[in-house]
Amino acid sequence: MTTSAEIIEVSEHRSAHNYHPLPVVIHEAHGAWVTDVEGRRYLDFLSGYSSLNFGHGNPKIIEAAQEQLKNLTLTSRAFYHDQFATFCAGLGDLTGKDMILPMNTGAEAVETAIKVARKWGYQVKGVAREQANIIVMEDNFHGRTTTIVSFSTDPDAHADFGPYTPGFKIVKYGSVEAIREAIDAHTVAVLVEPIQGEAGVLVPPDGYLTQVRELCTEHNVLMIADEIQSGLGRTGKTFACDHEGVVPDIYVLGKALGGGVVPVSAIAANRNVLGVIQPGQHGSTFGGNPLACAVANAVIEILNTGEFQARAARLGEVLHARLGEMVGNGVVTVRGRGLWAGVDIDPSLATGRAVSKALMERGVLAKDTHGSTIRLAPPIVISEEDLHHAVDQLADAIASF
Ligand code: PLP
Repeated sequence: MTTSAEIIEVSEHRSAHNYHPLPVVIHEAHGAWVTDVEGRRYLDFLSGYSSLNFGHGNPKIIEAAQEQLKNLTLTSRAFYHDQFATFCAGLGDLTGKDMILPMNTGAEAVETAIKVARKWGYQVKGVAREQANIIVMEDNFHGRTTTIVSFSTDPDAHADFGPYTPGFKIVKYGSVEAIREAIDAHTVAVLVEPIQGEAGVLVPPDGYLTQVRELCTEHNVLMIADEIQSGLGRTGKTFACDHEGVVPDIYVLGKALGGGVVPVSAIAANRNVLGVIQPGQHGSTFGGNPLACAVANAVIEILNTGEFQARAARLGEVLHARLGEMVGNGVVTVRGRGLWAGVDIDPSLATGRAVSKALMERGVLAKDTHGSTIRLAPPIVISEEDLHHAVDQLADAIASF
């Protein structure tokens, strides 16, 4: 199988249809550019849903992976290995937290945060057994496991996957009052995306995260920030919570932590929270493996320079200034922060899918979400010139309808 058409045909026939990819077959990638099997080049404006913040084939990350591949790839957590301590100390310092619990995928890390919050609720807060509840947001996206989809408000994600896991209260995103009303004596945590990525890059009102933090502190409830998509440089700061100077009790991280090379996720929290987990109570065969840690250590070193955060902030201003000019010209609204934007296309003009296809034909890969929104998240290594080029193509694609 060598042509795009052949590969797409077999892929569609032999894989479950849990995705609806654009018809492009990627063969290689460097920096912000990908090349398909026929040799056509595209700018990547999705970045593996923000997993490739540091660019495809980032030399520092690839070198760390290659070095580690030669030495040691897996021990399981039955033994220590020489990359683990650096990973936990490094990520702990980056987040300002005492302890790390590593997993692989984002959903696993969210599940981990839920388990830890419940156990903390019973053992530390003193909530009555089996009574714990966690407050979550409408339009959330935290992954695809049965517990997580139990509290999804997206019918595609939720319907027909029951019976559902109880113990969650869903409130309106962006409303502190809604959280205040939902909190009761059994509430152990508020789980929030500082910016809702899958929902269309929804930025909450200014001061929201600060007030959520205050409310959580006031009621002895853990604030869990799912920074899987928003964290690690994307918004122009290390964490999206940093824009309000807010420190959650639990950071949930994934995606870019694995440098676009391997799945690496983790939660970070202080000892009074994460200390509730004892041997045998939680784990993963691959969580915290040597290859994952070596790659994440390179990612953490990159983030410690602050270079990518500053670049995302600077280029983000360019991106948002350009996109702002498009409002009224086929674009209804633009939201976002840093090098991350949700662009609502005028639904009377075209669907997000149709615009994504037209954009692909113009050499830019982005993906629609929820009907008429297109999400833009290029690798932060993108040049300013390429950024302008991509926005020109978006304007041209929209104008073609
Ligand atoms: N949480 C957020 C905010 C996400 O954006 C995602 C993935 O898009 C996840 C959790 C789930 O991560 P994964 O797909 O690695 O399980």
